[in-house]
Amino acid sequence: MLIAGPCGAETYEQVMQTAEGIAKNDQIKIFRAGIWKPRTRPNSFEGVGETGLKWLQEVKKTYGLLTTVEVANKEHTELALKYGVDVLWIGARTTVNPFSVQEIADVLKGVDIPVMIKNPVHPDLQLWIGAIERIQQAGIDKMIAIHRGFHDGHTGIYRNHPLWEIPIELKTIFPNLPVICDPSHIGGKRMFLKEIAQKALDLGMQGLMIESHIQPDKALSDAQQQLTPDALHQLLSELTFRKTTTTDAKFNDKLQHLRNIIDELDEEMIQLTRKRIDIIEQIAEYKQDNNVSVFQLERWMEILKSRTQSGIDKKMNKDFIEKLCLLLHEESIRVQTELMSKKEEKNK
Ligand code: PEP
Ligand code: MN
Repeated sequence: MLIAGPCGAETYEQVMQTAEGIAKNDQIKIFRAGIWKPRTRPNSFEGVGETGLKWLQEVKKTYGLLTTVEVANKEHTELALKYGVDVLWIGARTTVNPFSVQEIADVLKGVDIPVMIKNPVHPDLQLWIGAIERIQQAGIDKMIAIHRGFHDGHTGIYRNHPLWEIPIELKTIFPNLPVICDPSHIGGKRMFLKEIAQKALDLGMQGLMIESHIQPDKALSDAQQQLTPDALHQLLSELTFRKTTTTDAKFNDKLQHLRNIIDELDEEMIQLTRKRIDIIEQIAEYKQDNNVSVFQLERWMEILKSRTQSGIDKKMNKDFIEKLCLLLHEESIRVQTELMSKKEEKNK
């Protein structure tokens, strides 16, 4: 599923020329344009409002593209429905607010329209799930989640931190919910679009929403991340679109074989972890009998350092090894404190 269009509808000409360019690629079925723009600071371009909805009707009539706009409240939603917008989307700044999402959901009761929900601005999966549930409970059965990255205090080269694990976790909770990626708002600059879009496709995301403007540098919002329709077509032609499955028997046999090995390794890993917990339980008892505290900083520092080095020697990712150590250590502390307090209870 490919969605493209300007960050914001600015003028009739800008909308129509952008749509004309986008329509040259018939893989792109949906034209996006922000009509009401949620801006971080006041006194910047906040969208053209209702007038823009008429331009979108024109886009649909002239170029046969479906249209989508961002709705953030009851009034936006009612107007978008009135003008026959085909798909609605809820933006990152709205997903964070259950009151606003519910207000939109209430307008949508009994309406048959697809709704796309962007992740909330900060990495709170529960808020994303909550917004999806509110719209679902209004009776909307065609929904799509849009991954647009997160603000988490992380300062990297991208405008928003992708935190790919969050959309992946969402997918495990709603296996049938299509998840697409918005590389424009993740990257914040057009030079990053390709690598982010490819990564999303490699992870099995089912589509892309990309901002495109006929004169990107003159855009009234998000100028740096938009690209011309021609550059967009070029970008799409350079991406590798992957299948999630295949019927190729040879491929499936080989894959199954490798998966069997993974299954065995995972089982071994669980057994090893169980053995580790057995020893931790013994340590807990021993420490308690000798009145020694559960947490010993030097021991933990030593574990972290030696395991991380061992992982690095084996060409593993440092971050991953550190996270794994932390997880094991946290569980070890939990097991020990739980055992100790149980025993104290008994002794009372
Ligand atoms: C947008 O799509 O133009 C937009 C405002 O995005 P987000 O809600 O992801 O910030
Ligand atoms: Mn934008």
